[in-house]
Amino acid sequence: MELACLDLEGVLIPEIWIAFADKTGIDELRATTRDIPDYNVLMKQRLSLLDQHGLRLPDIQDVIGTLEPLPGAADFLDWLRERFQIIILSDTFYEFSEPLMRQLKWPTLFCHRLITDEDGKVVDYKLRQPDPKRASVKAFHSLNYRVIAAGDSYNDTTMLSEADVGILFHAPQTVIDEFPQFQAVKDFEALRAAFVAASDRSLSI
Ligand SMILES: [Mg+2]
Repeated sequence: MELACLDLEGVLIPEIWIAFADKTGIDELRATTRDIPDYNVLMKQRLSLLDQHGLRLPDIQDVIGTLEPLPGAADFLDWLRERFQIIILSDTFYEFSEPLMRQLKWPTLFCHRLITDEDGKVVDYKLRQPDPKRASVKAFHSLNYRVIAAGDSYNDTTMLSEADVGILFHAPQTVIDEFPQFQAVKDFEALRAAFVAASDRSLSI
């Protein structure tokens, strides 16, 4: 039995916060953990910016609803779901990803939650568990699934290490250089071939 575990942002969809910053023109929302390494500090800043600009969850979802999956992502997912059970492991929030997940036909997604008040204002967030991507792969192993995983960044590397086969997709050169143990591919055609090669079944592209 084999599972395909995929990261979401940077693999199937754009980085949501950055795309959202572009759409709204709120530049400060472009900050990532590279600028503010403490994730909790970064999230508090993001929530406070949303509040300052009067953006409630429905407004945010409207903006995110104008975004599209990365070119080729929906076709890739259709190809993959005929060959593997797919689980998306992401550090995004269900409420943010919803408009994009609709366009990807609602694959199974394990991620985090935003907490809103009765007016739809985002007041807090709830991370599902520490190191959730690795913990998920461990759990799938306990269910006797073999796991092939693909992701694009640092927050995927524990998932890729835990998986039976880990693949870097669209990764920045710094990540590729730092983690030479993972095959790195740059487009969906190569990712299809990498999944076929990683499978213990004889699949065709
Ligand atoms: Mg990513």
